[in-house]
Amino acid sequence: MSTQPKREFILALEGVHKEFDGYKAINDLNFYMDEGELRVIIGPNGAGKSTMMDIITGRTRPDKGKVEFGKDTDLTTLNEYQINRLGIGRKFQTPSVYTDHTVLENLWLSLEGSRNVWSTLFSRITPAQRERIQEVLVTIALTDRADWKAGSLSHGQKQWLEIGMLLAQNPKLLLVDEPAAGMTDEETAKTGELLVSLAGKHSIIVIEHDMVFVRQIARKVTVLHQGHVLCEGTVDQVQNDERVLEVYLGRKKKAQ
Ligand code: ADP
Ligand code: MG
Repeated sequence: MSTQPKREFILALEGVHKEFDGYKAINDLNFYMDEGELRVIIGPNGAGKSTMMDIITGRTRPDKGKVEFGKDTDLTTLNEYQINRLGIGRKFQTPSVYTDHTVLENLWLSLEGSRNVWSTLFSRITPAQRERIQEVLVTIALTDRADWKAGSLSHGQKQWLEIGMLLAQNPKLLLVDEPAAGMTDEETAKTGELLVSLAGKHSIIVIEHDMVFVRQIARKVTVLHQGHVLCEGTVDQVQNDERVLEVYLGRKKKAQ
């Protein structure tokens, strides 16, 4: 009869399974995240990181298990569009910005409500929209590039613009897949600062390989292996965890 109040997470995955042709890509995955957290997920290739994001965003439907967003939204019953409208934004690895449009136009296009290139470009920008765009430009440090064509930006700047395009929609949860890939060290460091500055205002999941970058941004790290959480903790804790060393360095394989 005891009714323990349920702890409220922004995101909770419980007992999630997903098989592809008999291969268990996600295997009894349990994952919990507090609101405002910046969580880093690491794991070897094929660990199921992208599949996990596909499941959260509705791109892939799990075979079983719960995926709860906030107190009582079951994401497994919704499609990608509905999930996006709830405030879950995803940034894929390669930037997809409109290269022939300016930075400002790209941000404008991504604002809530204005989804169509033509209707947006032939309508007038409202003061509220302008204000939101300015805020985002400051956040992504591209104010002085507002009138540049997105195609003329550096790789790092394009990535920031795309993060800005997601921010323009005011997401509650932001999923970011390997943001530092292909960036210079300086761009990587700036990306880290950007993500850290967003934590608290948004909940963020970052998938990353670059351990220098992980160390810069991470509070709590989740290590995924064979579709299951292998361990969680600070960067130091997971880097010294025997199970993680085994998975990454193949210690046990020496005996082969
Ligand atoms: P990660 O992102 O951690 O590298 P993935 O989630 O991409 O791992 O993949 C996990 C496993 O699931 C891999 O073995 C991959 O080949 C497989 N997989 C992922 N998506 C599909 C799919 N749509 N069809 C078949 N197999 C898939
Ligand atoms: Mg992946």
